[in-house]
Amino acid sequence: MAETTKNQIDALGVTGSVTRPGDHGYDEERTGFQLLDPHQPEVLVGAESADDVRTAVEFAAARGSRVAVQATGHGQNRALDGGVLISTRRMSGVEVDPAARTAWIEAGATWHQVIEATAPHGLAPLSGSFPGVGAVSYTLGGGVGLLARKYGFAADHVRRIDLVTADGKLREVTGASDPDLFWALRGGGGNFGVVTGMEIDLVPVSRIYGGGLFFDADEVPEILAGWHRWTRDLPDEMTAAVAMLPFPDLPMVPEPLRGKHIAQVQIAYAGSPEDGERLLEPVRALGPTVRDTVREVPFTESGAVFDEPDRPHAYRSANLLVRDLDPDLLTTLTKAAGPSAPVMCVVGLRHLGGALARSPKIPNAVGHRDAGYSLSVLSPVEPGERESVRALHRDLLAPWSANAMGRSLNFTFDELGGAEIAAAFAPGDYRRLTEIRARHDPRAMFHVNHPISVP
Ligand SMILES: Cc1cc2nc3c(=O)[nH]c(=O)nc-3n(C[C@H](O)[C@H](O)[C@H](O)COP(=O)(O)OP(=O)(O)OC[C@H]3O[C@@H](n4cnc5c(N)ncnc54)[C@H](O)[C@@H]3O)c2cc1C
Repeated sequence: MAETTKNQIDALGVTGSVTRPGDHGYDEERTGFQLLDPHQPEVLVGAESADDVRTAVEFAAARGSRVAVQATGHGQNRALDGGVLISTRRMSGVEVDPAARTAWIEAGATWHQVIEATAPHGLAPLSGSFPGVGAVSYTLGGGVGLLARKYGFAADHVRRIDLVTADGKLREVTGASDPDLFWALRGGGGNFGVVTGMEIDLVPVSRIYGGGLFFDADEVPEILAGWHRWTRDLPDEMTAAVAMLPFPDLPMVPEPLRGKHIAQVQIAYAGSPEDGERLLEPVRALGPTVRDTVREVPFTESGAVFDEPDRPHAYRSANLLVRDLDPDLLTTLTKAAGPSAPVMCVVGLRHLGGALARSPKIPNAVGHRDAGYSLSVLSPVEPGERESVRALHRDLLAPWSANAMGRSLNFTFDELGGAEIAAAFAPGDYRRLTEIRARHDPRAMFHVNHPISVP
């Protein structure tokens, strides 16, 4: 690196860390949960404060560099090569206002950290399946959580967003201060600047009735069709999903799951355990379970509902949003993505609707509120498999394209083309997003996972 650049970095004056390739801590910090293709920035700023973020953005803007942001790396699917990476993992503060039922969360806070802070007050955030995910990016992408059908998208419950824009200014963005930016940020992702913190609503939930019912799909072949029929008539208090996972026949896999194609029904019920149990009866009646973890749990244990792996790994996924599920296509998909698939595929279905379909008081950019279901296929990726996995996902979802309304960017862990990103939004909304981006980031300085084009 040129001496002038070194001097410029040293003069940054950030209170956090500044590292470059080869420096101690650089590799560890640039590598997040997603291990495929980590960012390779020229300068990595480990921000400790909004001021550090502002300084890093100003530095990049002055040099004409690109800027990426990383909290946990769960959603990273487009590596930055060169430029400035702002790591927000040190900015994990959470302040709860129990009377107002709100929390101020810093850019790098995970849902786990938010839940730990809110639970003592009998309050919960609209967090998702995996508490290790970053709360801010999840919310910027919409955020479909465990209580989604009762309360809606996480993005529907944001009061204020502090944002550093490409001009290096730190702005407090609310519906009153900047209606366009406030609309765009809630659903439009990290395209408009670096969020340093946000104020979110909390909900009065301290316990849920939830967990997983695991079926052997060979023994209960009707499981997906049965789950689909069951979801048609559910109250908003019940948010449900199902995943189809082929487990390898290996000693480290727990015996009841080993070597089986498992359908894992995941439920979170925001009501009494008695009502939850009654509602779940038709699913239990579909056949014998090989494992049943459904019980009343404190919200602090809400990660047990999906029980997702917490070890960093390399993965890719594709997603579609559909109004309804076609049972014949489900049967075909289950077979093609089952144990005989060339790469392990996890098919994930989430039941949407309920409050997700209702517009929030202050409208936002979240697309396709009328989708009934989200359909994803996710695979671990070994070196050299990226293209074959992408082609497999495309082939598996191709028969669904006629039914598809668009896609959820939060559930898409892969690079998408411009038209595919646009398909996550209503056409008029996408145009508005491109205009707002052009106003605030005219040279597309922010390198984001799903970029909104600048006209
Ligand atoms: C196991 C797992 C479970 C998940 N469950 C759900 C779920 O239940 N519901 C749901 O809706 N989503 C879910 N997701 C998707 C998740 O919400 C997104 O991948 C989200 O982007 C992850 O945010 P992160 O901060 O953890 O990841 P990061 O990779 O750190 O961030 C992802 C991207 O967000 C942008 N970004 C991050 N921080 C900022 C910031 N401060 N300002 C501006 N932009 C920023 C950047 O473009 C960055 O590339 C899940 C993902 C995984 C891997």
